[in-house]
Amino acid sequence: MSEVTNGRPRSDGDASGQPPTAVRVEALRAALAKALENASSDDDFVNEIAAAQAFPSRIWLFLEAVEQAPIAISITDPQARILYANPAFEGVTGYAPNEVLGLNESILSYKTTPRSVYETLWKSLHEKKTWNGTLVNRRKDGSRYIAELTITPILDARGETAYCLGMHRDVTALHALKQKVQNQKALIESVIDVAPIAIALLDDQQQVVLENHEYKKLTDDLGVTEPALQVLAELRNTIGLAFEPPKLGGRNFVDEEICVHPASGKAVRWFSCSGSWFEQQDAKADSFFDPQARAYLMLLIKDITAAKRQRELERIGAIRATMAEAELVQSLRETLSGAVYQLRGPLNMIRAAANMLDRRGTQIDTAMLKNALKEALTAGEAALGTFEASMPEAPQEATAPVNLNDILRDVLMLLTERLLAAGITVAWQPTSRLSHFHGRANMLRSMFKEIVENAIEAMNERGRNVRELKVRTEERDGRIVAVIEDTGPGISQELRHKVYEPFFTTKRPLSHSVGMGLAIAQDVVTRHEGTIDIDPDYTGGCRFIIGFSPSGS
Ligand code: FAD
Repeated sequence: MSEVTNGRPRSDGDASGQPPTAVRVEALRAALAKALENASSDDDFVNEIAAAQAFPSRIWLFLEAVEQAPIAISITDPQARILYANPAFEGVTGYAPNEVLGLNESILSYKTTPRSVYETLWKSLHEKKTWNGTLVNRRKDGSRYIAELTITPILDARGETAYCLGMHRDVTALHALKQKVQNQKALIESVIDVAPIAIALLDDQQQVVLENHEYKKLTDDLGVTEPALQVLAELRNTIGLAFEPPKLGGRNFVDEEICVHPASGKAVRWFSCSGSWFEQQDAKADSFFDPQARAYLMLLIKDITAAKRQRELERIGAIRATMAEAELVQSLRETLSGAVYQLRGPLNMIRAAANMLDRRGTQIDTAMLKNALKEALTAGEAALGTFEASMPEAPQEATAPVNLNDILRDVLMLLTERLLAAGITVAWQPTSRLSHFHGRANMLRSMFKEIVENAIEAMNERGRNVRELKVRTEERDGRIVAVIEDTGPGISQELRHKVYEPFFTTKRPLSHSVGMGLAIAQDVVTRHEGTIDIDPDYTGGCRFIIGFSPSGS
């Protein structure tokens, strides 16, 4: 413990084994007094010391401060020969102050510091400017350390460099830490950059602050400047995801599939997205004593378009197979229904004739005729029964929540080849948000397929130049509605109800149509408690409007 009293420092000693500060200061004071005694009167140095002695308390205060400063301080002559070093100098360099007096500071040089650094150092000192820099130094024991150094020339009254003041500290540990952080950052960045999925780091203002190579590729592929924003908008639409950190009610998410429609008419892309929130402390000075955390979202965007397309093809293939089987049963049912329907006419006539004969009496010839008629009737009814019994069961299907967009998309995919072959352009306009309803997906697909096939056939006739199929979905007045319109000849007003009757057809005799399609379509719609209408106001062709009630309504 030391203090300054009446301009003189007083010290109780030094725990480090150094001579007590007061003793060192006293020795210095004696040396200065001697220099004053020996010096000529016009020597500026002497004048300064003399002036300083007039303010002894300040001098001792500065000396005490330098002696106790925790940073290595040395004072040299203009050629870097050491005149003074403080105790901290020993702590950093391993050299006791009295060991280095008179030596050049270059004893600290490890000789790996580039020459150009020293040249800059000395250039600054010659220009009487302070130099700050970093050198590799060697301690007394030969070990190396990184020194952060400030050297200031101290000018005399004539403006010439009289001394140099050097201050330095060992920043090896700090440098190692900085290097470690930099290495880790470089490692993370290179791992992120070579990752086969797009990665973007967003701050809480939705600004992308870090991105990888795959993410930049996505920028070109989707034709947007910030794909992350499009992905987030799509996640909001599909799963109602809010862009908010967990502490504000947001959440992390894993493998959420979204569909993105690129701006420039390119093919639809599918992505599987995961996001995880984390917090980082603000590094600004304002937050030093009042740490402020900032939230970031790590967004991972995996392109699954190819896999999705493959899955979609497989799904459509499976639907096609199921529908082919159902269609086979259906056509058998239609054929048999036709036969039953046609047999019923003559049989009814036979029954009527037999009844008439019954009422008119019992002459011999009529009795025979009556018997013959009865036998014909019995045989006919047996045949009818056989037909009815051999009619295959309609396929059974359980109800499940159905999305009308999905049904219609499937139907258009199933009929893509036929639409292309007929040169029909398709305008598919699904509404982005559509409620579900309970229904039988296969039955509904077959029904819509029948309607679209009718439209294709209606438009696919010679001389018809405008061939356009518009399919859209919407939710209006609490109903889920599909609108299917074509540019064919349309259905005249008088036939608009007849087309739903069994075996009614306007198609050519060789078209293999028995006229059950719309009758069955109406049956399917009715089973789903829906409605099917032909729009009387549409004159450009035929427009079917099919509506269903959403689940739970
Ligand atoms: P040198 O041959 O001594 O010099 C290398 C180059 O430095 C030369 O090419 C020359 O251009 C220039 N140079 C050297 N001395 C002078 C001079 N007097 N005038 C003009 N140019 C000159 N060095 C350290 O390595 N570590 C330290 O901690 C350190 N502390 C210093 C503190 C002070 C206050 C001062 C003034 C200098 C300090 N130096 C320090 C610099 C040191 O004096 C040497 O210049 C340096 O170490 C290079 O020494 P060297 O023996 O490798 O090369």
